[in-house]
Amino acid sequence: MDVINEFDPWDSEMCTCPEKYSLNPYTGCGHRCIYCYSTYIPNFFEPRRKKNVVERVKKDVKKIPEGSLISISNSSDPYIPKDEEHGDTREILKILKKEDMKVLVVTKGVHVRRDIDVLKKMHSAVTISISTLKEDIQEKLEPNAPSPRTRLDLVKSLAVEGISVGVRFDPIFPELTESEIPRVVRKVEEAGAEHIVSSTFKPRGDSWKRFKLAFPEIAEDLEELYFEEGEKIDNSYYVPEEKRKEILGTVAKECEENDIPFATCREDLPSLKTSASCDGSHLLK
Ligand code: SF4
Repeated sequence: MDVINEFDPWDSEMCTCPEKYSLNPYTGCGHRCIYCYSTYIPNFFEPRRKKNVVERVKKDVKKIPEGSLISISNSSDPYIPKDEEHGDTREILKILKKEDMKVLVVTKGVHVRRDIDVLKKMHSAVTISISTLKEDIQEKLEPNAPSPRTRLDLVKSLAVEGISVGVRFDPIFPELTESEIPRVVRKVEEAGAEHIVSSTFKPRGDSWKRFKLAFPEIAEDLEELYFEEGEKIDNSYYVPEEKRKEILGTVAKECEENDIPFATCREDLPSLKTSASCDGSHLLK
């Protein structure tokens, strides 16, 4: 296999995803989120096309069973700003539709709208990532990504078109964004999302450095929570389990009140899960 690969959660026991394949139309991502977990890939914030990616997908797709679940993308965004110009993601979707694959799209990119016509005619579900509704915070967290309002509108547009849509309310930052939980859940539900998946911010070395630069005072407050009281799991730093339960328990409670299914991602808190899948694959039509 070349560009379609078995989804590999790095042997993490915390991962609750179903078996699936992973496909990243581009290498790297231009949204430049400071918390990004994929920056182990060289020059990650300088997204580039994969040579002959459409032809390579055509070949790979013949090697996997018909009706397989393919997640686009796990370590980049299929709707990087330049996809509007390149259009590789659209061409790939058309191939996957022809081969009757099931596709989960995860994105912050607005021009997923362009592909609604294709997504409507295939087995698809879309997850929009939203970490905050406060523009001043979002501009620092995700400097090149669309605004929170734009992303909520996107959830609405997809839902109105009959596409199953979930939201990755992720990551949630202690102190910085945890107070927004009730509002985010309410707004996301009002926009038409059918599922929410969340996790707490789990920095690695480089993402912590970026966070510290963007939010120095909050980073100072959180240093003890992460690096003295917390624990390191699978190369990421976690706040203590009690704090994770507090934050994600609040999301679960708000989801219950708003009648929206909920799951966590890599948190090992199965009692909070009310959704049939963590990744939204149960939404596939
Ligand atoms: S959108 Fe996802 S892949 Fe792109 S920079 Fe942000 S976190 Fe990383």
